[in-house]
Amino acid sequence: MIDVAVIGAGVVGGAVARELTRMGLSLTILEKNSDVAMGATRANSAIVHAGFDAKEGTLKALLNVRGSKMMESYAKELGVKYKRNGSLVVGFSDEDRATLEELLERGKKNGVEGLRILSRDEILAIEPNIGDGVTVALEAPTGAIICPYELCMASVGNAIDNGAELKLDFEVKKIEKTEGGYAVSSDSETVLAKYVVNCAGVYSDEVAALSGDDSFTVMARRGEYMLLDKECGSLVSHTIFRCPSKMGKGILVSPTVDGNLILGPTAENIDDKEDKSTTAAGLSKVRMQAGEQVKGINFGKTITSFTGLRSVGSTGDFIINEKDGFVNCAGIESPGLSSAPAIAEYVRDLLKGAGAILSEKADFCGKRKPMHYFKELSVDEKNELIAKNPAFAHIICRCELVSEGEIVVAIHTNPKPRDVDGVKRRTRSGMGRCQGGFCSPYVVEILARELGIDYTDVTKSGGKSFINVGKTKEV
Ligand SMILES: Cc1cc2nc3c(=O)[nH]c(=O)nc-3n(C[C@H](O)[C@H](O)[C@H](O)COP(=O)(O)OP(=O)(O)OC[C@H]3O[C@@H](n4cnc5c(N)ncnc54)[C@H](O)[C@@H]3O)c2cc1C
Repeated sequence: MIDVAVIGAGVVGGAVARELTRMGLSLTILEKNSDVAMGATRANSAIVHAGFDAKEGTLKALLNVRGSKMMESYAKELGVKYKRNGSLVVGFSDEDRATLEELLERGKKNGVEGLRILSRDEILAIEPNIGDGVTVALEAPTGAIICPYELCMASVGNAIDNGAELKLDFEVKKIEKTEGGYAVSSDSETVLAKYVVNCAGVYSDEVAALSGDDSFTVMARRGEYMLLDKECGSLVSHTIFRCPSKMGKGILVSPTVDGNLILGPTAENIDDKEDKSTTAAGLSKVRMQAGEQVKGINFGKTITSFTGLRSVGSTGDFIINEKDGFVNCAGIESPGLSSAPAIAEYVRDLLKGAGAILSEKADFCGKRKPMHYFKELSVDEKNELIAKNPAFAHIICRCELVSEGEIVVAIHTNPKPRDVDGVKRRTRSGMGRCQGGFCSPYVVEILARELGIDYTDVTKSGGKSFINVGKTKEV
C-alpha cells in the first residue's frame, strides 16, 4: 500500500504530488488522460494574480497571496519561465472607479503590496496603447505571467524524478474505504493508498461522490481566448484586466511569457464538462472588449483560438478539506494557478493533521532544467551543444526555432510525452505562426523512432487520434 493516491495531474495535482514527495511520502498520480495538464491547466489566462480580487478571509484570498509570493522562486527552481510584468485593472466610468477603490481596499486587507490607483495620464506613461475610453486603473506591481502547463509538467516531472509514479489513462471510477486506507480503481486496475487527494478539476465533485461525499457540486464555466502572433506581443507590457463583474475578472489583454499576446476569456456557464469548443459569439465579444481596453490590436494576426473550462464550486470558495484521510481540492477556479504551490502546502498540513508521517526526503532534488532553451542560448553555447550532439543543429520547428535535439531530450524526460501535442507542449514545436504545418510530420517521425513504434501508431493527442494510415502509394 502506498501513502497517497493523487487523482488528477493538473497544476494542483502536480504541485501536491511534488510537495508530498518532498515530505517523504510514497505516491502515485492517477490521470484519466494520456498526458498531464489536459484540464483547466492547459487553457487559461496564465496570470499569477496579485491577490486583490478574492474576498478577505476566504481560502482563495489566503492561498492566492501566499502562492503569488512563492511563485517566482518555485518557478525558478523548476526551470519554468516567469515574468513579473505587473497588472492594470482598467475602468471606463465613475462606477468602475468605485469598484477599483473597493479592490484596492480589499487587496490591502489581503496583504497585497504596492497597489495604487492611476490616472489616465499615469496609465498612458506606462501603457501608450491603452484604449481611448480608459479613465482610471488599479496597478498591481506583483502581478506576473507564467506558462501554466509547463509549470504542471515540471511539478509532475520533478515528483517522478524524486520517486512518485504517474499512471496515465487511469480514470478513477470507484473508491472504496478499506482497512487503513482506500482502494482507488479504474476499469482495469486498483491502487491501494492510505490517503487520497482529489484534484480532479471540473470532475472533482464526481470523484468526491465516489467516496460518498456529495456535499458540493462543480459547474463548468467556459472561457474563450484568441492568441496572437509574437509580432503583437509587445503592444502592452502589463496584463490589462477589465473592471470585474459578477461573472469574473472580465476580458484581459496580456503578453504571454513566450512573447505572444493573449485576449480573453469570456465567461459562460455550460452543462457539458467536455465542451471545449469556441463560438463565433464568444470570440466576437473577446475582440470587442479587448479593442476597448487596448488600441491597435491586429486581430488578423490571430494564430489560434481555444477554450478553457473553469471549475466553479457551489460554495463560492476553494473547497479544500479532509475527512478520514480523503482530501478534496475542488472548485479550484481562478486564482488556482497562482495558488497551486500554496494549495500544496495546505494539503500537506491537512494530511499531517490526519496522521500522515511527514519527514523531509533527504535526497530530494527540487531543481529541474528548463524544457525549451535552445533559442535562448548564445551562439557559443549553441555551438558547444551542437558539437556534442549534432541533432541540436537540425531545426524542426522553424517558427519557434526548436531543434531535434530538444525534442529528443523532451521525449525522454519525465513526464514523458507520447504524442505530437505532448511534444508541442514541452518544446513549443508547433506553437508558432504555422501551428505545426511544417514540423508535425517530422515530430511524428522522431516520436516513432524514439518510442520504437510505427509512425502509423503515433497520435495527435492520445486515444484514437491517429494521424497517418500508411504511405500514400501503398494505401
Ligand atoms: C478560462 C480560465 C482562465 C483562468 N485564468 C487563470 C489565471 O489567469 N490565473 C490563475 O491563477 N488561475 C486561472 N484559472 C484557473 C486555473 O486554470 C485552475 O485553477 C487550475 O488550472 C486548476 O488546476 P487543477 O489541477 O485543479 O485542475 P485541472 O487542470 O482541470 O486538472 C484536473 C485533472 O484531473 C483529471 N481527472 C478528472 N477526473 C478524473 C478521474 N475520474 N480520474 C483521473 N483523473 C481525472 C483531468 O483529466 C485533469 O487532468 C483559469 C481557469 C480557466 C478555465
